[in-house]
Amino acid sequence: MWTIQCARCQRVATYNPAQWRCACGGPWELPRPLPFHHQAIRPHRPGIWRYEELWPFQRDPITLGEGWTPLIPLSSFDPRLWVKLDYIMPTGSYKDRGTATGLSALHEMGAHHVMDDSSGNAGASLAAYAARAGLQATLFVPAHASPNKKAQMRGMGAHLVEVPGSRAQATATLWQALETEGIYASHVYNPFVLLGLAAAAWEIWEQLGRAPDAVITPLGHGMLFLGLFLGFEALQAAGYIDQPPRLYGVQAAACAPLAQAFATGLEAPAPVEEEETIAEGVRIVAPPRGREILQAARATGGAILAVQESEIRMAQDRLARQGLFVEPTGALAMTIWPQILRETDRIIVLMLTGSGLKSLG
Ligand SMILES: [Zn+2]
Repeated sequence: MWTIQCARCQRVATYNPAQWRCACGGPWELPRPLPFHHQAIRPHRPGIWRYEELWPFQRDPITLGEGWTPLIPLSSFDPRLWVKLDYIMPTGSYKDRGTATGLSALHEMGAHHVMDDSSGNAGASLAAYAARAGLQATLFVPAHASPNKKAQMRGMGAHLVEVPGSRAQATATLWQALETEGIYASHVYNPFVLLGLAAAAWEIWEQLGRAPDAVITPLGHGMLFLGLFLGFEALQAAGYIDQPPRLYGVQAAACAPLAQAFATGLEAPAPVEEEETIAEGVRIVAPPRGREILQAARATGGAILAVQESEIRMAQDRLARQGLFVEPTGALAMTIWPQILRETDRIIVLMLTGSGLKSLG
């Protein structure tokens, strides 16, 4: 039923929540291409669940109505620019797409106590969906995470473990805790998270009536980036589009392992120093799916780029002056469009991923 395969050694298996990654260390991924057919779309169902017939769920999913977010022109800068308002979600970030499908899958497999490591948005999202389903949630967060995000998680009943030090330290502490209790509801390793994220590509295709020429996303763990890749790949495999859009990921220069690997032609990201950035959501030194992200960027003719803090602030301000109030991480897609635009491009989609309400105070 829940068939998966290892992204590294290609081993095929049935998903077991206790084995959240392959014995070889590789992350599990979904069999590709994902199935897609337009006759399976159920437009009367809320959000991402219009695509539910394409997915292997047997029971009613855990949902707060996430997805089918607005896609609107950003015409005051360039008529070709469109923004996908993925910060308009039940918990204020695009993460809800993947939490809904990822946690629904684990729930079907019998999970009661779920745990994750997060700088904020994934944790807030898991807290909400666990509350909705009556599950216990324990979240390992770096102590430097935004107070607003921590308050959001606590408010929905999650147990927080604040870990001093780096973001990577929160992950290490969680892995240790998993040896004695809980199911890892990872927003990175759980492959069923990618279903809800792939739906973003299908929404864009339905909303535009075509595929865009390029899509730009913030890039930390790169799950939205991979989800979009899988979604457009499915559309192409099913014959609905000729080719996927060029996919661009944007990292903060303060922590840019994938941008560095892309620029130097590496197949996998090399370790980098974790430095401070206002784009806390993409402060990821060692993305587990880095190899697959680099492949996807190259396969689509896109790129992974890094930007300075001043550029992030400027992008956030420009979006706010358009009435689009996003957090610094959520503004990353707005930073690079002038340099990636080609003369033949007709539509570029910027993914706006996290609400500005998260970074107040
Ligand atoms: Zn493997």
